[in-house]
Amino acid sequence: MDVAEFRTGLNAWLDEHHDEIKPTYALPGTLDDHIAQMQRAKSILFDAGWMRWGWPERVGGLGGSPMLRTELGAAMAGRGLTDPGLYSLIEVLAPTLIDFAPPALAAEVVPRLLSGAELWCQGFSEPGTGSDLSSLSCRAVPDGDADTATTWVINGQKVWTSLAQYSDRCVLLTRTGPPDSRHRGITAFFVDMDTPGITVAPLEMINGDFEFAEVFFDDVVVPADRMLGELNGGWSVAMSILPYERSSCYWQRLAYLYRRLQMLVDAAPVNERSAETVGNVFLQLHALRARSRLTQYRLAAGETLGPETSIDKVLVATAEQTTYEAVRRLLVGVVETDDGVSGEMWRREYLYSRASTIYGGTVEVQRNIIAQRLLQLGATT
Ligand SMILES: Cc1cc2nc3c(=O)[nH]c(=O)nc-3n(C[C@H](O)[C@H](O)[C@H](O)COP(=O)(O)OP(=O)(O)OC[C@H]3O[C@@H](n4cnc5c(N)ncnc54)[C@H](O)[C@@H]3O)c2cc1C
Repeated sequence: MDVAEFRTGLNAWLDEHHDEIKPTYALPGTLDDHIAQMQRAKSILFDAGWMRWGWPERVGGLGGSPMLRTELGAAMAGRGLTDPGLYSLIEVLAPTLIDFAPPALAAEVVPRLLSGAELWCQGFSEPGTGSDLSSLSCRAVPDGDADTATTWVINGQKVWTSLAQYSDRCVLLTRTGPPDSRHRGITAFFVDMDTPGITVAPLEMINGDFEFAEVFFDDVVVPADRMLGELNGGWSVAMSILPYERSSCYWQRLAYLYRRLQMLVDAAPVNERSAETVGNVFLQLHALRARSRLTQYRLAAGETLGPETSIDKVLVATAEQTTYEAVRRLLVGVVETDDGVSGEMWRREYLYSRASTIYGGTVEVQRNIIAQRLLQLGATT
């Protein structure tokens, strides 16, 4: 199925099934509501087939270009049917399992993620190890010789793990080489979150949601066949996420930001100040749109994406913060003092937008990459 055909069929289907798939909670909804809605929507979409397009047949998919998934995510976000941040975890984690898990494991679990039967989280960051991911220290030790071990024992801590308290599984990066082995001594595991020894302590974000958590691992025993990729090959696993995170995920976020811009236009006073502010947001969203589409075409054509995706990351973070600054500027007082439904929604989203320059790689670090690796400015580190 080609992208245009998919889009037409999908939109017709979504129009027809709007009442079945639309959120049922009272607006603006809690994080629990948003997660329940996403899982319910995924289940309906999976049963109807839409959620399976763009995924390989060996994991329950119907095949076709990954751009079909991008279309679905954007349609869901653009129609306000799922939160794009929560939904994007599919794109971040399912390709990892497909590319690096033993085939039988991928065939078993990927359909469970796609159909809303499970949620997964990404255990990369640690206290003191965010931007400098290769210095992580959560340790995995084999029960005997590393090549023949049947189990590994994990000890350490992760932090900022999105949705850990809701998750059934975790894609976890561990240290398996010497402490100073950096990116050469990291191994990825796919860990069941109900394994004894795992403690999840949710953390409150600035907007009041408990969306991420600290996760503690105390003598957590993981079967060796849950290793993703090669022993000490975890850096490739971590890097493989980037192309998906920085292509289809951004297309969803963009659809959602266009929707928010339209809501702002509908609510803002009609004057010169509004026109200028809205125009500036539109330009930023449009620049991101052009850039992101190019990245998606490159990915679909099988090109290897690299440091140039740092540009996409800076554009999406800047566009998101500019959109919400415009809300604050034009809907005077709504973010700060309005306790009604729309005030609650804008405040929560405004505060969340502050994180867009941090998660998925901070913009400062992306600007370093752009300067050093794309523009050849200064020494590389
Ligand atoms: C909402 C949200 C969700 C998240 N979800 C997850 C998740 O699910 N899983 C996960 O593993 N992680 C997650 N994270 C963590 C995120 O990946 C890290 O916060 C991010 O990589 C930054 O790392 P850090 O917090 O340790 O900050 P640090 O790396 O300590 O950076 C602190 C400051 O120093 C700056 N800085 C650091 N190094 C340099 C440098 N070389 N040059 C210039 N400036 C520099 C940074 O830009 C930043 O401003 C999430 C974060 C947020 C905010």
